[in-house]
Amino acid sequence: MTDKFRLHWPVDNRTITQYFGENPHVYAPYNQAGHEGLDFLAPVGDDIYACADGEVFDVRPDDGNAYGLHVRLRHRVDGHEYRTIYAHLSEVLVSEGQHVGAGDRIALSGNTGHTFGPHLHLTLKLVGAKTPGYPNGVVDPLSYLQEEEIPAPTDLTIYTTDRVRLRAGPTTSSAQLTWLGKGEALTVLGDAGTARAWVGQPGQWIQVQRADGMHGFVAAWYVQLQPPWPAPPEPEPEPAPTGPLTVYATEALNVRRGPSTGTSRIAIALPHEPLTLVGDLQAALAQIGDRGAWLHVRLPEQPDGSKGYVAAWYVQTEPGPEPETLLTVYPTEDMNMREWPTVSANPPIARLAQGTPLTVHDDPERAQALTGRYGEWLYVETPEGRRGWVAAWYVQLQPLRPAERMPEPALAGPLTVYAAEVLNVRRGPSTGTSRVAIALPHEPLTVIGDPQAALSRLGRLGEWLHVRLPDRQGESEGYVAAWYVRTEPGPAPDTLLTVYPITDMNMRERPTVKARRIGQISYNAPLAVHDDPERAQALTGRSDEWLYVETPDGRWGWVAAWYVSKAPS
Ligand SMILES: [Zn+2]
Repeated sequence: MTDKFRLHWPVDNRTITQYFGENPHVYAPYNQAGHEGLDFLAPVGDDIYACADGEVFDVRPDDGNAYGLHVRLRHRVDGHEYRTIYAHLSEVLVSEGQHVGAGDRIALSGNTGHTFGPHLHLTLKLVGAKTPGYPNGVVDPLSYLQEEEIPAPTDLTIYTTDRVRLRAGPTTSSAQLTWLGKGEALTVLGDAGTARAWVGQPGQWIQVQRADGMHGFVAAWYVQLQPPWPAPPEPEPEPAPTGPLTVYATEALNVRRGPSTGTSRIAIALPHEPLTLVGDLQAALAQIGDRGAWLHVRLPEQPDGSKGYVAAWYVQTEPGPEPETLLTVYPTEDMNMREWPTVSANPPIARLAQGTPLTVHDDPERAQALTGRYGEWLYVETPEGRRGWVAAWYVQLQPLRPAERMPEPALAGPLTVYAAEVLNVRRGPSTGTSRVAIALPHEPLTVIGDPQAALSRLGRLGEWLHVRLPDRQGESEGYVAAWYVRTEPGPAPDTLLTVYPITDMNMRERPTVKARRIGQISYNAPLAVHDDPERAQALTGRSDEWLYVETPDGRWGWVAAWYVSKAPS
């Protein structure tokens, strides 16, 4: 493979919204191992540029194909033939047979084909290459993308006012490169005058370089011009460690089987838990804080006393605070606990009875967001102190209660039930069917069919009720789990989370890009998320998640969570 072929950025901004190979289950129906290219943030009408010198060999209309209106270029380099595909366009500015140069404007971005909102999709093919799980020729474009030109460092130094993210681009949706510490000194890149004026300004971003050379963007409202405290004295040279040495996670941290994020998780370490370094202590100490370095550690006292690897850039030598509380979850049926968070080639290490209280050894908010979610795993401790992984979709936040005794007298009218907590309404009587809506505890759900039969199923695990949703535009009926409803209304939430689209986007009937579009939503329109506000907050901005929302004009539907943000932009 030649290393002379480079891709010019096809859009002006620097935000990649979906990488190659992501979201395998979304692409399974297309017989692909994952996303077959790169997606770039691109509102409708943005300029699209040719990635390299080449020839237009195909322009295809929006005729129902997955790419919508798209352009294909051919590039011949050193006897190799590369092809680039620019998909979901609104307008094409070139024609078949035309020669184009790298960086030439060839099209305008759009929202055609199978999309969840406007963006540019780029596929790269190298004729003759084969990436397992993808069509012939398809390769990951990322390593071919030209490094951005980095503006020169200035004399201006700024300081973070809090722990804040360094991002790849100037938006909250840009990729997170790393965490910056509170009070960290950053060299401003580019234009010092503009940066100085932006310091402290909400919505502005400043391009900076860290002491270690890493560069990116920092939110201007999290920096100041003065160091927040006097510089710390030069540290004394540390004496050579003699005894066992411990480090601590800076936040809830994955412990892995090997020194790479590609190896499986075996545990989660919390900030107060000592991790004992294994091996060459001097070398390990020198690596603390180094991005890309891994430390071999022994986990805190546990029956199995196992070892694993943690990211050296997420540990410190002082213990962090113990969490105030940890989430407790309860198996909905007898289930297995496993050594790693997967069912494949991973024999159970314990059998847990339905209703056993399990302490989730993780950030409680994250644990709550994962509870009940299919495909997610929780790292838990049993009442006897055993630790391991359980399937998040087999546990719930409350222990199962025996079905309440229902009044005997025959019902006169239709039966109304209420969600015991924020509840998925599904297309059919099974968790395998897609969600159509979310019901909150105060919303009346009218049972369709025989009320007496429905009453007898209330509270019973595995039973479903067919219900009519409260008056709203959109889906009008669905199925709810009978073991999550009751006959008394619960409280209306004090508040619902409001989110704002970062671009014009589609609202859909169900939470999938394949679902019918039921409306277009404008950039920055306030959307009330009809869900538990904390869960909604945890999902906002996350790739492959969906939010059930109400628009200002009273329309209801699902929007892609990775295209909204918690603040208007
Ligand atoms: Zn794509």
